[in-house]
Amino acid sequence: MSVTIVGSGSWGSVAAKLVASNALKLPSFHDEVRMWVFEEVLPNGEKLTDVINKTNENANYLPGIKLGRNVVADPDLENAVKEANMLVFVTPHQFMDGICKKLKGKIKGEVEAISLVKGMEVKKEGPCMISSLISKELGINCCVLMGANIANEIAVEKFSEATVGYRESREIADTWVQLFSTPYFMVTPVHDVEGVELCGTLKNVVAIAAGFVDGLEMGNNTKAAIMRIGLREMKALSKLLFPSVKDSTFFESCGVADVITTCFGGRNRRVAEAFAQSGGKRSFDELEAEMLEGQKLQGVSTAREVFETLNHCGKLEMFPLFSTVHQICIGRLKPDAIVRFLFSPVAIA
Ligand code: NAD
Ligand code: 13P
Repeated sequence: MSVTIVGSGSWGSVAAKLVASNALKLPSFHDEVRMWVFEEVLPNGEKLTDVINKTNENANYLPGIKLGRNVVADPDLENAVKEANMLVFVTPHQFMDGICKKLKGKIKGEVEAISLVKGMEVKKEGPCMISSLISKELGINCCVLMGANIANEIAVEKFSEATVGYRESREIADTWVQLFSTPYFMVTPVHDVEGVELCGTLKNVVAIAAGFVDGLEMGNNTKAAIMRIGLREMKALSKLLFPSVKDSTFFESCGVADVITTCFGGRNRRVAEAFAQSGGKRSFDELEAEMLEGQKLQGVSTAREVFETLNHCGKLEMFPLFSTVHQICIGRLKPDAIVRFLFSPVAIA
């Protein structure tokens, strides 16, 4: 079997490293792992793909980490996927619709996919999870892998866990577990693809709220309250959208553990902290560009997508934390409203 990684940001590069180390060891996989790279030109004029192939490091998104000699960077999306039997999708969620459209009719017949993308699309018909987008657009089965997985920590092989969510075949889920597991990355399969994916998606909104609390120096008790209420809203919204979602999923790495790590160490938290420190005067776009050097935030757009979904189905008042985060992000409320929602019903747009 041949594996291609679609995406090469910080988490995409770490995913390539994990998969490449296992592809070399497992006889059923080809040694070479292709990684599609959204081409960029470095300040010295060199192309990012050339630099990755020369140095075996992603100079822009994961400098200092060897990806494995069997990782081949490819700027041509169609070429990168054409031989693959197993596709790993790991780009910021806003690019996935365009990527799926480009890949339509370009992949092999028998292909399995997994999405590491934390986010969702909101279509006219309602919300569409990225794994469903991949399945619908490309006509293939798609598992998900989510968890408490800050890329820089896994890059230097600090121990962490992750959750693979699967829909039908446990055998396919086990193949993905085998492909990603290392002594420092422990992966558990769970028969609840929607629950796992919604945990990974919605925790980014909770992380934005935690960032506001940090920026306003509200303290640990307040942050713990935000995390608890956030987890409760994650569970309620997941079950509202997909009644089959299991309670136990929220106790896996993709659930409570990802809420904790993102609310302490994630990029969403960090940029939201700076937003609150500016009193909401600086925009998230400006702060993202200044602080993340090309990396992308998912929480702000997810908060909008969640707000649109809730507004559409008339359930905003059931989700005061999610609704308030969006309204702070767009400047309709001040950052300190993040705790006021606890005492008064949220103004509904
Ligand atoms: P990143 O934020 O580090 O980097 C942004 C990526 O987007 C780069 O590869 C860049 O080349 C690419 N890009 C920019 N413009 C593009 C375009 N027009 N089309 C396609 N690609 C473009 O990326 P990441 O951290 O690897 O994030 C990918 C997904 O993984 C996200 O859903 C994120 O939530 C999730 N994730 C990230 C982490 C983490 O710690 N970084 C951990 C777990 C999950
Ligand atoms: P951030 O995108 O906020 O850094 O979160 C990374 C993540 O998903 C950790 O599991």
